[in-house]
Amino acid sequence: MTFNPDKLVRENIKRLKPYTSARDEFSGAAMVFLDANENAYGAPLTQSVLNRYPDPYQKKLKEKIASWLGVKSEQIFLGNGSDEAIDLLLRVFGQPAKDAVLVMPPTYGMYTVSAQINDLKVVEAPLTPDFEMDREVVERTLSGQVKLVFVCSPNNPTGNVFPQEDIVWLLENSGKIVIVDEAYIDFAPDKSVLSLINRYPNLVVLRTFSKAWGSATIRLGMAFADPKIIHWLNKIKMPYNVNGLTQKVALDLLENVDQKNEQLAKILAQRRWLKENLEKLKIVQKVFSSDANFLLVRFERAREAYRFLMEGGIIVRDRTNQLHCENCLRITVGTEEENRKLIERLEEFELKCASV
Ligand SMILES: *Cc1c(COP(=O)(O)O)cnc(C)c1O
Repeated sequence: MTFNPDKLVRENIKRLKPYTSARDEFSGAAMVFLDANENAYGAPLTQSVLNRYPDPYQKKLKEKIASWLGVKSEQIFLGNGSDEAIDLLLRVFGQPAKDAVLVMPPTYGMYTVSAQINDLKVVEAPLTPDFEMDREVVERTLSGQVKLVFVCSPNNPTGNVFPQEDIVWLLENSGKIVIVDEAYIDFAPDKSVLSLINRYPNLVVLRTFSKAWGSATIRLGMAFADPKIIHWLNKIKMPYNVNGLTQKVALDLLENVDQKNEQLAKILAQRRWLKENLEKLKIVQKVFSSDANFLLVRFERAREAYRFLMEGGIIVRDRTNQLHCENCLRITVGTEEENRKLIERLEEFELKCASV
């Protein structure tokens, strides 16, 4: 496929001379570092070494992620959460006050927020009521102004993965940068499109340590793409966008892939349990099938159920205002005990509904 992302890059970004840090200019080993105005005595803490700037390109961490996922280091960008990758992609490819992005609601709200911050128009191609991609609507909305297309798979808040054929169709026919947000793919790993980055130079796959890895605190997001796209992201990122503590924790996390997988298995078993038990409730109309660590659930009286749960100290996400999500709450799969409490509280709500 001949597709050259360079052609879509903003002129001011092409002309930009990127910031160079001290550690860009010297990155090897040395005895004496007097190049970055650090305090050579270290921080007033006994445990950690904090005085040195971290590796601006997170080389070690990328190597470890590369071997974990079977990609090349040059295909990886790491950011301060996937949110940073989203913002940088918009800034590389979207001309403010002129270009647009395509989103498919109901979906993750950050794409629209980030686009608006960057003064980009947001064009919507709604999913069908069954939360499938509507190719006809997408085709109609893919004007020349659109530079980037966001696909969230598994989708938040609906939980479904899009068939690979839909994503390939976009990659081959849109002529746009196609961003597939796989924040929840750890819960359905065989449905990832990650390996397609080797075939499609317009594909960006996003992943994060915030969900399956249980490490939202460290703010670490990953973008995978052809090295050409990674190059543009690196060009405009803040010099030390991923801090040293985060890099260190992530290296430690990647020593424990097996433990993460054990947790995943537990979460998937709990998702099955939760779905089965929600479906037994008369106040529940539908539990949508999910490839993520949450369930979208249609209730008879969602707002009341939401309030009743809240009064019982259980917080779920009210999605009733989202397109096609009338009367729907989004419920994250918790621990065994948390899930049991949720079902018990909903059973109380059901009794209360039946008695009035
Ligand atoms: C939670 C979530 C993210 C994660 O964002 P981070 O900035 O990496 O924490 C990304 N995309 C979707 C759809 C999410 O739900």
